[in-house]
Order: sequence, then structure tokens, then C-alpha cells
Amino acid sequence: MSSNAREPAQKPRIARCPRCGSSTRLDAANAWRPFCSERCKLIDLGDWFSGRYAIPGERLPDEESSEKDSSLDQ
Ligand SMILES: [Zn+2]
Repeated sequence: MSSNAREPAQKPRIARCPRCGSSTRLDAANAWRPFCSERCKLIDLGDWFSGRYAIPGERLPDEESSEKDSSLDQ
């Protein structure tokens, strides 16, 4: 009867924001999980779209279709 410690019903899940590294909650209270804020989420998404979606250095070679003038035969 001497114990006054209450255990929390649920420990909030804490993780690090993948963007800025600050601790952030992973439960429903955090709408931007796993990020710490909307800003970090948007930044990360922007990074993803601009960086990893585009494949740099991949260009189609020129096709030999630029000389089609000879088709004007009437
Ligand atoms: Zn963050």
C-alpha cells in the first residue's frame, strides 16, 4: 500500500522524425507521423518527388526522323 506509482495505460510511441531527427509521436495524436510536423512531411515528399522520381542522365537518343521532307509528294 505504499506504492503511489501509476503506470501509464499506454506509452506513446516515440520515434525520430526521419526528416529533422527530433523525437515525434507515432500515434493518432500526430497527424504527420512519422514526421514531426507538416513541414517535415512536405519537405520529405518534395525531396522524394524531385529527387528520386527523376532519373538523371537518362536521355533518349535522337531518332532519325527529322528528315521527313521527302513525303511532300503531290
Ligand atoms: Zn521533423
